[in-house]
Amino acid sequence: MELVNNKYQIQGVNLIDVANEFGTPVYVYDSERIKAQYEKLKGAFPKLDVKIKYASKALTNLAVLKYLRSLGAGLDAVSIQEVELGLMAGFNPKDIMYTPNGVSFDEIKEGIEKGVMINIDNISVLEQFGNEFRDTVPVFIRLNPHLMAGGNHKISTGHIDSKFGISILQTRHLLRVIETYNIKVVGLHMHTGSDILDAGVFLNGAKLLFDLAKDFKELRFIDFGSGFKVPYHESDVQVDLEDLGEKISKAFRAFCKDYGRDLQLWFEPGKYLVSEAGVLLVKTNVVKTTPATVFVGVDSGMNHLIRPMMYDAYHDIVNISNINGTKRVYTIVGYICETDTFGWDRKLDEVKEGDILAIKNAGAYGFSMSSNYNSRFRPAEVLIYNGKPHLIRKRETMEDITRNQVDIEL
Ligand SMILES: *Cc1c(COP(=O)(O)O)cnc(C)c1O
Repeated sequence: MELVNNKYQIQGVNLIDVANEFGTPVYVYDSERIKAQYEKLKGAFPKLDVKIKYASKALTNLAVLKYLRSLGAGLDAVSIQEVELGLMAGFNPKDIMYTPNGVSFDEIKEGIEKGVMINIDNISVLEQFGNEFRDTVPVFIRLNPHLMAGGNHKISTGHIDSKFGISILQTRHLLRVIETYNIKVVGLHMHTGSDILDAGVFLNGAKLLFDLAKDFKELRFIDFGSGFKVPYHESDVQVDLEDLGEKISKAFRAFCKDYGRDLQLWFEPGKYLVSEAGVLLVKTNVVKTTPATVFVGVDSGMNHLIRPMMYDAYHDIVNISNINGTKRVYTIVGYICETDTFGWDRKLDEVKEGDILAIKNAGAYGFSMSSNYNSRFRPAEVLIYNGKPHLIRKRETMEDITRNQVDIEL
């Protein structure tokens, strides 16, 4: 979203017009921004064979999946339902990586039947896999390097208390199982968490992974997961992608030389690709002055964007109805019947009832974590593509709320 001639717009489309045409609350995504992020990430590794597997859990709308496929991305799925969505969006099963955690073995078998790549993150599952498939199905192994990384304990996945991955301390056991069943391991994977800032974390993990890789003779892929941070706050520093790309490329090339073969390097960004491409447009229902603050109450809440309440996430908010107004201090809150605050002590251009606010950086883990709490409808979704707004998800209706409820005689 950019400010041009006193109007906030995406690809030349005025966001006020989008709010008027499709109503509020509405998630609006910018295809060009997704493309720019994809190209920036790919461009950081010019000399390597890099494949980007979009972590679909960040934003699973089929139109967005199809768009990322058109850019050349593969897909990272964390549930069999995400696998299905990927297939519906036209991804080749071979380009879908299924990284489940804590699922039943039946769900893993379903993934294998659909022909997607499986990433195994538990030795007991690997044994079941060995019993059933031996060397007939290639797999990835998800390792836990026990690195503390990520912006928030809730989104860190590589630490010692984490449920994710097979501990690198279990390598001996892991290799025993692989050798006994003759399991064909073609890739090693690690994903240490979200909101990682510096190349150091990736490099430390890479070093551990490269050391381990020597014990696996049939590798074709190394998957470094994701965790690329995006700037939420104005003062947030950006990941230095160039620096990261250079350092990782150097380490990876040295490893490949050592290993005796060129491997393909995978990343699985979610947030990095779609977060900044999305805004949530909401309408001001009430402006309410209390002894403590001035609340701006909008027609949305933590049911639509849970990140501020769940992760203490900061999302920049702007009043797109009043561009050059007097700045005032507000607390922006939702309409849910419990505390649901989008932002405290924000300086916004003076807000009147009816004004449209844009909550920025809402492309990732926005709609995909939304719910019907308070029996509210989830927002509509609009993709700006080729300079035009396209409705890609209708607003819900009462029918959606009651669809699966079963009426009984009482
Ligand atoms: C969530 C997740 C990702 C994406 O993380 P982001 O921080 O959104 O980039 C990648 N890989 C796996 C296995 C995940 O669970």
